[in-house]
Amino acid sequence: VSERRRTRRLAELRAPEIVDAVGPGATLVLPVGAVEQHGPHLPLATDLLIADAVCDQLVAARGDELDLWLLPPLAVSRSNEHAWAPGTLWLGPTTLLAVLDDLGRSLARLPARRLLFVNGHGGNSALLAVACRELRLAHGLLTFLAHPFVPPDQGGAPPPDLDGDGELGCGIHAGLDETSMVLALRPDLVDLGAARRAVPEALAANRHVRFGGPVTFGWTSQDLGLDGVIGDPTGATAARGTTLLALAVAALGAACEEIARFELGHAGLASTTEHTSPTGD
Ligand SMILES: [Zn+2]
Repeated sequence: VSERRRTRRLAELRAPEIVDAVGPGATLVLPVGAVEQHGPHLPLATDLLIADAVCDQLVAARGDELDLWLLPPLAVSRSNEHAWAPGTLWLGPTTLLAVLDDLGRSLARLPARRLLFVNGHGGNSALLAVACRELRLAHGLLTFLAHPFVPPDQGGAPPPDLDGDGELGCGIHAGLDETSMVLALRPDLVDLGAARRAVPEALAANRHVRFGGPVTFGWTSQDLGLDGVIGDPTGATAARGTTLLALAVAALGAACEEIARFELGHAGLASTTEHTSPTGD
């Protein structure tokens, strides 16, 4: 019998081990990726690669200390702003909500009560925030949403400004940061020679209606007419990517310290929503 490596990957456990290994203090970490066009220079799996790598590094670095368990990534998500491009795989918003509800229902069978979505795709942010509340209500889980530097299209955390912002706040898709991170993770999948600057300058001039602005707007990447890239990947480097990934892992580790202590007042919330008496007696 060969010795199994000590694991923090839930799917590597055998079923009877679950009850002892994954206690009520555990946090389940679910990387949420995407498979969608990322311009001519990056692979379709860019968001999946980044979310998966950040979660993998997070759980490797802090898993034992903070009782983190890595779930298999959700590879395909809500990417229909890129549906025009062959190779983009996507679930519609109602489908994704249903998938997340089923995942929450099955995860709620574990002793663990905390579920952290680590979202690598800005197009998921609003829906995952909705899912956090739905899974809280339906399954009693403590749910959390964090971003490894998802650009600020829909509520993601913008990356720290390492070198000034030549992207005018519009580096939201296949731009400097994503390209740098994939260069750090899988340089064999990047064709930097095909990278072109594609910044929607008119949009960047708006005070209100812009990416990350106070007024959001519906868009597809085809609407912007920039061959699917929104940003300026031309200055990307693996060194910048390595720095961004390390910052993301450190920030998520600090967040997981709070998540591990986080409590809400009514653990039985799901049942308290039931006892309405329509007849009033
Ligand atoms: Zn992306």
